[in-house]
Amino acid sequence: MYQFNFRNVILSIIFLCTFFTNILVAKDNDEFNIGDIKVSPGEMKSGYLAVPEKDGLETSIPFTVINGAKQGRVLALVAGVHGYEYPPILALYRLKEMIDPAKLSGTLVLVHIANLQSFQKRIIYYNPYDWKNLNRVFPGEPDGTISQRIAHVLKNEVVDRCDCLIDMHCGDGNEALIPYTYWMISGDECQDNVSKEMALAFGIKHIIIDKSRTKDLTLSKYLGNTAVLLAKPAITTESGYLGNTDEESIVRNIKGVLNVMRLFKMIEGKPELDLEAVWIDKYEVVYSDADGLFFPLTEMGYYVKKGEKVGYLTDYLGNVIQELRAPFAGIMLYIIHTPPANKGEPLFEVGSVLNK
Ligand SMILES: [Zn+2]
Repeated sequence: MYQFNFRNVILSIIFLCTFFTNILVAKDNDEFNIGDIKVSPGEMKSGYLAVPEKDGLETSIPFTVINGAKQGRVLALVAGVHGYEYPPILALYRLKEMIDPAKLSGTLVLVHIANLQSFQKRIIYYNPYDWKNLNRVFPGEPDGTISQRIAHVLKNEVVDRCDCLIDMHCGDGNEALIPYTYWMISGDECQDNVSKEMALAFGIKHIIIDKSRTKDLTLSKYLGNTAVLLAKPAITTESGYLGNTDEESIVRNIKGVLNVMRLFKMIEGKPELDLEAVWIDKYEVVYSDADGLFFPLTEMGYYVKKGEKVGYLTDYLGNVIQELRAPFAGIMLYIIHTPPANKGEPLFEVGSVLNK
């Protein structure tokens, strides 16, 4: 007879997590439907998800589905939630050429550019038609503004249909940023173990243990958090900076995705999980209190002391109006490296390192 004790609880957690990370029997895959496109097993198809028109405004989301010949996990990779963040976008186009559906177990959903309008207009943070940040309006609204409608389509067509998700970002056009991953804690031990393995497999050294996201799905804000709250292991990655298209940042994204695919046994090979991660258990984004110009006095990746001056703000006449100091000792995860500063927008993010 089954006895409820600590050991059995541990065993059941291991069993459930094994269920998460082990692939089922290698059966033939099923057809995968997204938008109005049906993708047969062993087939790759690309198309656009329609974001319905309202007030004369509509858009679409370019995507590719690579539906493996064999059953397995559905992994969604989303780039371009911020349209000025190029390395993840370029990485997904290369991955599209690299993955053979005949040899794939499971399904890859590649969202090439989630926020096409901000990409087209070269706008950081926002969509230029409603000036909302797409990664603050999830789970979206079907009758909302254009960003809210994009979020709604992504939630219904991508998040709801996947088993796990990677939301791929980098430093925006104004952000000098070191690579790091957000490991978002759901509170479900099994799910969190899987997402932790995803973070380790993606291979970026700095990993933020992120307990700060809301647990209310109706206010989930972030794409990654939306997936987490729907019980889907997910991570948010950052690789790239300042609007660059450097090879190192692109390749880091590609290697990370391929290693997560190995973790989930979607492609052959052993995942490398020997990363010596630097864990960050607290982080803070410091925002500008005023409009003006920002002058950084430190660099991305530098360690700062509590209270250390990291930059200053001037008004448009060149008068210094504020000094910015580190709220606690830690590493500069990113710092704004172009002059414009706007009230309410980020200036820098500092993270407190757990094991250093
Ligand atoms: Zn971003």
